[in-house]
Amino acid sequence: MKPIVVIGTVAFDSVKTPFGNAPEVLGGSATFFAMAAGLFTKVKLVAIVGKDFPSRYIQVLEEREVDLEGLVRSNGDTFRWSGEYEDNMNVRHTLDTQLNVLEEFKAELPSSYRKAPYVFLANINPDLQLKVLKQLEKPKLICCDTMNLWIVNQRKDLEKVLKKVHMFIISEEEAQMLTQEHNIVKSAREILKLGSFSLIIKRGGYGAILFTQKKEIFAIPAFPLENVVDPTGAGDSFAGGFMGYLASQDRLGLGYVQKAMIHGNIVASFSVEGFSVDKLRSLTPIQIRSRLREFLRITHLSSPIA
Ligand code: AMP
Repeated sequence: MKPIVVIGTVAFDSVKTPFGNAPEVLGGSATFFAMAAGLFTKVKLVAIVGKDFPSRYIQVLEEREVDLEGLVRSNGDTFRWSGEYEDNMNVRHTLDTQLNVLEEFKAELPSSYRKAPYVFLANINPDLQLKVLKQLEKPKLICCDTMNLWIVNQRKDLEKVLKKVHMFIISEEEAQMLTQEHNIVKSAREILKLGSFSLIIKRGGYGAILFTQKKEIFAIPAFPLENVVDPTGAGDSFAGGFMGYLASQDRLGLGYVQKAMIHGNIVASFSVEGFSVDKLRSLTPIQIRSRLREFLRITHLSSPIA
């Protein structure tokens, strides 16, 4: 079992879904990732929060035994994001993003983080993702995510990051935004040209597809759910389950990547059944195993895969 360093946001999210409103709840890309990956291995978090960030939210991360030595507490206001989902919850609109303390963040790693073999560059400014990479000593696996804001405003930096990563995990909407291409296979082919990474495109309620440089493709459906309450953080929870599984096995072959996708899928399916990190907080390995068995039964994927 190997540790994972994650850099990303720790945030106040205000979310509206057809199920209700959740104002100023605990969110952020690094938060969802750490709560998910922390079910499998030790997570070392790099992020910044402001003076307005309550200790009860810090406690949620402490309960999962996330290493918070790299969490900076500054005098400004915490990063805030708000979004609204349509009745078809695959469609989300960002209403507001306030970078606040993110604008002063230096992303300096504690020395105890620098040898970590697994790194997740969660959704945050690509220049900060690059800074983190420069401070690490030869990580074995670097995975990266991004979002519309950075694709539009900091594309050059994002392309520099992509030259250095092994795995790029993005949503279908972001893949379309990066390539101006609506067909997912053509879009993936274009994105793969930006580096030497493998690519996972997340398709919300429709699952996820892996595309490798060797032209392998592996597709899985999402776990069929009756009650999707809040999809916020599904992507980061997927990435957390995915990398958490790989780091717990410390193996990187294609079969392990496929198994990791299934674990990411299952963890994300729990995450969206509640607001904020509520479901991830109470999730147990037994619940994961039981839903995994159900997923294998439904999909007829054989047990050597998962
Ligand atoms: P996801 O639903 O997986 O795309 O992740 C949503 C999470 O990302 C929310 O908890 C937000 O706080 C956070 N977030 C939203 N916009 C950004 C951004 N531009 N940079 C970093 N994190 C963000």
